[in-house]
Formats: sequence, C-alpha cells, structure tokens
Amino acid sequence: MDCIFCKIVNGDIPSKKVYEDEHVLAFHDINPVAPVHVLMIPKKHIQSVMAIEPEDKELIGYLHLALQKVAEIMEVKDEGFRVVTNIGQHGQQTVFHLHYHLIGGRQLEWKF
Ligand code: C5P
Repeated sequence: MDCIFCKIVNGDIPSKKVYEDEHVLAFHDINPVAPVHVLMIPKKHIQSVMAIEPEDKELIGYLHLALQKVAEIMEVKDEGFRVVTNIGQHGQQTVFHLHYHLIGGRQLEWKF
C-alpha cells in the first residue's frame, strides 16, 4: 500500500519519534504549526475517523490513552493543548492514514 504513514511505521521513511509501542506511534510533524506539533497514529492502516470499524474500538481507546502519555512527554499536559483530526476534502486531510495532531506549546486561538 502506498501510504506515507505506513512507510513511517515500517521504518522505510525516517521520523522523529516521540513515543512508540506495539499499537501506536507518535512523531514530530515535519511542518510544525506550533512549538509542539506531534502526530499520533495507529500502526494499523485506517483511512480516517470515518473508516473506524467496531473491531477498532479498543485500539482507538488505547490511542487516546497513549495521547495522554505523549502530552506528558512533551510537557504540555498542565498548560493544555489541542488534538485535531482532519477528515476528507473539506477537513483538508492530506494523508489518508488516521492521525491526531497534538498541537501546543503556545497560546492557541480558535478562528476560521
Ligand atoms: O491532517 P493532514 O492530513 O493535513 O496532516 C498531515 C500532516 O502530516 C501534515 O501536518 C504534514 O506536515 C505531516 N507529514 C509529516 N511527515 C510526512 C508527511 C506529512 O509529518 N512525511
């Protein structure tokens, strides 16, 4: 499968890893929008939130618990941060492997 994040999982494309275990991987975004910008992905290829199946329930819960660990590692858990996942064209999703952006390290705004 020609998926850039699967290639990162397999080590075919290098990444700056923040956290990794059997099920999930977190790495620094190559184009950060804030001092902290980490991508959290399941190792399993799932296209987006809309492609999550009932059999993925446990994995998705696990990924959120791992996000807490990443927030601790990146030292943003006390000040707060943002978790974003883009879906499809209007969501401006560019990589079609489920990923959560963990963004923080500065005061964020909310405007569109
Ligand atoms: O949500 P969206 O699909 O647009 O996000 C994809 C993200 O993956 C971008 O923020 C981009 O900078 C990042 N990326 C990366 N490493 C790559 C390719 C894309 O960190 N090799």
